[in-house]
Amino acid sequence: MITGKTNIVGLMGDPVEHSMSPPMHNAAFEHLGLDYVYVPFNVKKNALGEAIKGAGALGIKGLNLTIPHKTSALKFLDVIDEAAELIGAVNTLKFDRGTITGYNTDGLGAVKALEEVIPVKNKNVVMVGAGGAARAVAFQLILSGIESLTIINRTPEKALKLKNDIKSQIESNISSGSLEILEKELSGADILIDTTPIGMYPHDTDIPVANASMMHSDLVVNDLVYNPLETVLLKEAEKAGAITVSGLKMLLYQGAEAFKIWTNKKAPVDIMEKTLMELL
Ligand code: NAP
Repeated sequence: MITGKTNIVGLMGDPVEHSMSPPMHNAAFEHLGLDYVYVPFNVKKNALGEAIKGAGALGIKGLNLTIPHKTSALKFLDVIDEAAELIGAVNTLKFDRGTITGYNTDGLGAVKALEEVIPVKNKNVVMVGAGGAARAVAFQLILSGIESLTIINRTPEKALKLKNDIKSQIESNISSGSLEILEKELSGADILIDTTPIGMYPHDTDIPVANASMMHSDLVVNDLVYNPLETVLLKEAEKAGAITVSGLKMLLYQGAEAFKIWTNKKAPVDIMEKTLMELL
């Protein structure tokens, strides 16, 4: 029951109608018997500053931010966490005694997802894509101590820019290139992460970035797309005998990290994952 004592957290974005975060977090709060409720708010691009200020005035305890607000929110915050500062984007805010702190749990979510099957430290990672998700994942992988990162993108200039952005801030072993070098790079890789929307419903029969013959059985393959759960890329990876990680895991763990930031409690990931699976 919502009462005057209920803690409110939520999501600001545009659109928010199809977000799976409200059911995922509300199931977690209910499971742990926490007096919290998670509410989605559709906030237009030019209203974000007012909305964040208003959230503070309303006593809202925390927010997730999604498209189109992850970068533009930075200027409305009092404190920015180190990883979020490096990435240049936030997806989680905490309101505490008049101070608004911004975090980025996207990259951490991706690393936690991989670490269910393989420790990322000292691994050679090939990442396809150089957009917003790739940026968060790349910075967090470097912060987590990977051996090397190869950023491959349809538009190689964007991969080069991301590489240079990271190297200008953290000492790291990163190279970049176009899709033509993917096959060669995969032969020596431990982990492949596809951060492109290829294969996302309703385009689930797209041609994947790599087919089975380009992959090997010691590879861990992670697709950030989670609808469908088993993308065309993951099907090819399975044919090659590789271990696969669904994009659902990143969604799950970025949410689990936000949950911990707001409540100071460990998130019930099993319940959250079950809720996501039911929604899909
Ligand atoms: P974005 O900023 O628009 O970046 C998209 C990237 O994919 C760009 O590098 C783009 O290359 C590349 N790309 C797009 N279509 C392509 C194609 N047909 N062939 C080759 N490359 C293509 O998008 P984003 O925000 O990073 O999101 C990317 C994907 O990650 C989306 O599917 C999103 O749903 C997913 N995602 C999942 C989670 C999760 O929790 N699992 C979280 C965030 C995002 P160019 O530079 O050449 O355009």
